[in-house]
Order: sequence, then structure tokens, then C-alpha cells
Amino acid sequence: MSNNGQSVKQIELPATITVRELAKVIDASPIDIIKKLMANGVMANINQQIDFDTAAIVAAELGYEAILEADKAAKKEELGEIPLWRRIIMQEDPSQLVRRPPVVTILGHVDHGKTTLLDAIRHTNVAAGEAGGITQHIGAYQVEHNGRLITFLDTPGHAAFTAMRARGAQGADVVVLVVAADDGVMPQTKEAVAHAKAARVPIIVAINKIDKPNADIARVKQQLAEIGLVPDEWDGDTLVVPISAKQKIGLEDLLEAILLVADSMDIYANPKGKVIGTVIEAKVDRAKGVLATLLIQNGTLEVGDVVVAGVSYGRIKAMFDFTGKKIRKAAPSTPVSVMGLNEVPQAGEMFEVVESEREARNIVFERIQESKQAEVAAKRAITLEQLFDQYKSGEVRELRLIIKADVQGSLEPIINSLKELGKGEIAINILHAETGNISENDVMLAAASDAVIIGFNVQADVAARNMAESEGVSIRLYDIIYRLTEDVEKALKGMLEPEEKEKVLGHAEVRAIFRISKVGNVAGCYVQDGEIRRNARVRVLRNQEIVGEGVISSLRHLTEDIREIKQGFECGVAIKGFDAFQVGDILECYVLEKAQPSKELL
Ligand code: GDP
Repeated sequence: MSNNGQSVKQIELPATITVRELAKVIDASPIDIIKKLMANGVMANINQQIDFDTAAIVAAELGYEAILEADKAAKKEELGEIPLWRRIIMQEDPSQLVRRPPVVTILGHVDHGKTTLLDAIRHTNVAAGEAGGITQHIGAYQVEHNGRLITFLDTPGHAAFTAMRARGAQGADVVVLVVAADDGVMPQTKEAVAHAKAARVPIIVAINKIDKPNADIARVKQQLAEIGLVPDEWDGDTLVVPISAKQKIGLEDLLEAILLVADSMDIYANPKGKVIGTVIEAKVDRAKGVLATLLIQNGTLEVGDVVVAGVSYGRIKAMFDFTGKKIRKAAPSTPVSVMGLNEVPQAGEMFEVVESEREARNIVFERIQESKQAEVAAKRAITLEQLFDQYKSGEVRELRLIIKADVQGSLEPIINSLKELGKGEIAINILHAETGNISENDVMLAAASDAVIIGFNVQADVAARNMAESEGVSIRLYDIIYRLTEDVEKALKGMLEPEEKEKVLGHAEVRAIFRISKVGNVAGCYVQDGEIRRNARVRVLRNQEIVGEGVISSLRHLTEDIREIKQGFECGVAIKGFDAFQVGDILECYVLEKAQPSKELL
């Protein structure tokens, strides 16, 4: 609080924020924010991300002092994000938690021996009898050491780990960093350390190729210490194990070290809890269809469960362990190969078990919608960018227009004839021309730039109409090009006839549909509000979208023809030009009235 009674409100903002979120935080309308952004030379739509500096300028103009959520940002950087599966385990009832096998991933510089090490461990430690029989490779396997299990991810180390990290779905509990004794710490060694630290996963170093004559273990330890991995024999906390993957030397020591580190960590899960895990890899098999390797991280996965992974889902038809043996159940830290997903999920994606296929479909549907919206937002941002250049260059007095038409073929002649008209005293500036119905985004753009929206053979959707009403944006709809150009010409000359404004009379819900020969379908309706009038205009709304328009040609109550009917009554409605009613449709009845000439057009 300052002492003159005026206080600048402080708010914390993240490094990036969407226009919509910013509006919410500072309690402003998104349109005000878009206007302020435009005034500062930034063209943005409601779903666009803006950076902190830009957001802070806008916030300042609206009386807020923005502070970067620095603490949070720094913490996130330092600790890495906690993956979803870990958060889920943290929420489980502690009394239900049991130890699970550690999950290990092997990282290191190319040619330092990762593949050789994975093969060596797999062949020496997979229970005898099974080892020879393993013909398939599913991207993960389990070994036994001193009667305890260890799960190894053997996806092409680095790439998979990066992908997993990028999706916040780090699967491993322990990283084994392979460093060749003759080559030492190399660029990818350092990168691997950075990944492991970001994922908050402890590192065990395997100094490999100690059989080579030029191996220099002491030098490697020195290099390790320099990058923050101080060997425990030097009082550091990194276990360093000299090995030869090729000669199978030191492998038992390495497994011992893994279990030692695992014992110092909380490697738990609830086998009875929510089933969740990570997709390790997936492919299409000619005989089995989609085959996905899943690493279970919490809960117990069973044949018959419905799984969702990203936008792929399905009921598990069959499940195999890493040796190819059919199994029915799999506990935490077990890698399994499953059949039954409808599509190939992406490696690194989280999967979860849901109640039913219906729920799975809903989740997938929502995810697809979300990604579509993100795509649309990205596409719009480009057109808006270009558009802003036009807007900036518009120094002269001008009439700004946003044009929406049904097809590209009608846009061109409209734009051409408008350009002709704009050669006089007042210029015409077409901010945006596109095919498609008039949307909220168009209205927002018009409101922010004082433009008029012209629609040709298109409609304004309900949300757009509501927003235009509240923002005072003028929308003019035409179905004949010369009428359109005539109006614009009149507007330029300041001679425009009063605009016909619509006035909504009332709404009725369709409750039944009757087929009447010669007439077509008649809707049995209930008047929800206002009134329905014969010869008035009507638009048919289905899920907020306009599916038809026309004029009420017949209106009946019981068997009687009537002129109008009020809220709370039932009626039969026939519409000239539309009869494809569905139960649940809303009829919006309206009339056109002469209004004052539109301000924006003058
Ligand atoms: P990656 O790229 O890290 O997976 O490395 P590879 O496992 O493919 O190994 C690269 C090369 O080093 C291969 O020619 C291996 O035979 C060799 N190699 C791996 N481990 C050892 C080892 O312990 N001793 C020796 N002498 N060569 C090894």
C-alpha cells in the first residue's frame, strides 16, 4: 500500500501466459488485452502465449505490477518436473505401498559400450533356460540378482530417454552412466548427466573397457569429479564400478551397486492402486496387430483392462512378459508387451487404465479436440501477424473490414470490387478475408481494430453474435455481391440506410417431430421464453450451432391455426425452407427492425 491511498496491485505471472489467462488474472476482458497488445505492436489472439515482458507491459497499463514467478521457475529448473506417475504414487495410501524392483536405464557417449553392457547383463543374469529362448526384443527386460529383480530399459538409450524426459514421463529410478576407460568423459557423457540431474535420477558410473591396454581408470575418475560426480572412495556420493562389458568383468558388482542405491531410495508402488505407467515402445505386428511395450509404474495391469495412452486406446486382449511368455497380470516395474490397442502409441507417453471403453473414447476424443484447437490457434496466429502489418500501414482514414465468405471463389470478386471502391477519399482496408462462418475470433479482431464484419453466404455462430452484441461490433450479412458493394459504397459516402437490426422474440424447444404429407416435417415445440410468431424469421439451433433458417409458415396450438404463442405453451411449427428437425433443437424466433445507421460504417 502506498501512502497516498492508491495502491498498485502486485501479481505474479509465469514466464509465458495466454491472453485468456492473463485476462483472468488481472480481471480484464480479453478484448482490452488484445487492444493494448495491438497498441504496443503485438498481434495476438485469445489463445496465444505471450511472454512475461509483454504481459507485464499490458498489466502495468491496467494498473498492475507484474512479478515473474521467479522462485517457481528456478525451482522447476533445478529439480526437474515430477512425473505424473511419481505424483500418483505420492498420493497413494502409505500403508498400501510395497517395494518394487528398481528401473534402470543405461546412458553414455556413443561407442562407450551401452549395447554391449545391456546384452552382457541380459545373457548372464536372465534365469538360465529362459536366456536362450529369448528371441524377441521388447525394449525392456528384467534380471535377478541375489533373489531380487532389476528392470532394465534397453531402448536405444539416449534418444528414448530424451523423449521420455521431454514428456515429463521419466521412467527410470537409476541411471547407469557408461564411460569408456580409454576415452573418458565425452560430450554425450555430460549431456547424459544433465538429463539424469533434470530427471532427479541418481547416477552410477560404469567405467567400461577396463580390459583395454590403454584403459586409464584414474584419469576417468578425475574427469568425473570435475563434472560433479565425485567417486565415493574420494568421499563423494557417486558409486563408480570398473567393468568390461565384453569380457563380462564386474557385472555382478554393478548389479550390487544398483541394488545398493535402490535401497537408499523410496522405490515404492501400490500394486492395488491406480494403474499407470509409460509406453516404452510400440509397433504394428502383422499377426498380432498393435504391440506395445508398457512399463507398469503403479497398480497391477491385467488382461481385459481398458488402457488409454495418448490418443490410442483399447482393451488388453493378451499380455506377454519380456521372454514372450503369456501372462495375465503384471505388477509394478514389470515390462510387458500387450495386444489390443487400436493405434500405435508414442514411446515415452504415459498410459493409464480406465473404467470402460466408453470412458477411454471420451478421453481420446477430448485430447484430439485439444490438439486440433492448438493447431487452429497456431494457424490463426500467422494470419493475424500478416494482418497486423496491413493494419499498421493503414495511416489514412479508412473503413476497416473483415470479410468472411462461403468459398474462395466468392472472396476474390468481393475483394476486387471493394478495392475499386476504396480508391476514393476514404480507403478500404481489408484486415482479414477468409472462408468460413463468422466466429468469436473474427468479432474479437473487429472489436480490437474497429472493423466491420461482412459475411457473404455465411452465418455468424451463436457465440460470435453474442459477443458482437456486447462489444458493439457490426456484422452485415449478404447473399448478393452487388448489394454488398452498394452498401459499402453508401457507407463510404455516408449515405447508408439504417441498418436492419434483429430483435429476438423468443425460443422454443423441439420435443416431437410429425411427418405430414405434402407439408413435410412439423416440429412439436414448447415455448421456453418470449413468444413465437407466424411469418417471423426463425433460426434452428443444435448444440449452439445454426443448422437451418427460414420463416415460420405455419403455427398451430392443438388443432387451431394461430398468430402467436407465448412462453409455457405447446405449439406445432412448420418452417419454410427447413424441415430436418431433431428433438432437442431450439428455434430462435426473431424479426428485423430498422435501427440507427451503424456507427462503424459511417
Ligand atoms: P554403444 O554405442 O555405447 O552402444 O557401444 P557398443 O556397445 O556398440 O560398443 C562399441 C564398441 O565397443 C563395440 O565394438 C564393442 O565391441 C566395444 N566394447 C564394448 N564394451 C567393451 C569392453 O568392455 N571392452 C572392449 N575391449 N570393447 C568393448
